[in-house]
Amino acid sequence: MRKGTLYVFTGPSGAGKGTLLGRLREQDDRLYYSISATTRAPRPGETDGVQYYFLTREDFEQRIAQNAFLEHARYVDNYYGTLEAPVNQKLDEGYDVILEIEVQGAMQVHKKRPDAVMVFIAPPSFEELAARLRGRGTEDEEKVMKRLETAKEELKHQDEFDYVVINDEIDRAVEELKGILAARRA
Ligand code: ADP
Ligand code: 5GP
Repeated sequence: MRKGTLYVFTGPSGAGKGTLLGRLREQDDRLYYSISATTRAPRPGETDGVQYYFLTREDFEQRIAQNAFLEHARYVDNYYGTLEAPVNQKLDEGYDVILEIEVQGAMQVHKKRPDAVMVFIAPPSFEELAARLRGRGTEDEEKVMKRLETAKEELKHQDEFDYVVINDEIDRAVEELKGILAARRA
């Protein structure tokens, strides 16, 4: 069987990665959306094993020591990482696998898996990014500021990606993502 393709989607918090990928997922049953591990606390409505595997810091560090991660990074005040085994299994089964991760982790995957397709989701402007992040209401102002500081650094890496998709209008951006997948599958 033909192996699947690994796609890495990155971009600053609040750019709309989750929104766009959620739409894409509804429209494409050949995608497997990797579930990351994190030490951050679940938000209201998040369930362990669905949005993330929510781990203690000790559990996370144990998995680092066991080499269980394809990539991992510290983002703001927490660890985030992609467990390698399920990704390999789904690729072997022929699924295209989607990682939605921050920039440091994306660069690690790029080094380890040079054939991964690298996509950067960018906001139309920094002001709009800040407005979206605040509008989402999931972080307090101190955390929002830390995420925006990190975003400034992340935005500098856009040019290192195969594709940059500006999330101006959701429907338009989703069509652009579908176009990238279609081109790779052709
Ligand atoms: P990320 O996953 O990159 O952190 P989200 O998908 O959570 O970002 O989006 C951040 C916020 O911006 C959410 O409240 C979402 O509803 C909103 N949003 C996403 N895309 C757009 C868009 N194209 N225009 C306006 N608001 C958007
Ligand atoms: P959030 O706390 O908003 O869910 O995620 C914060 C940031 O961590 C986002 O940019 C998200 O893409 C990123 N992230 C989520 N999972 C992973 C992962 O497995 N590895 C890395 N490196 N970043 C991740």
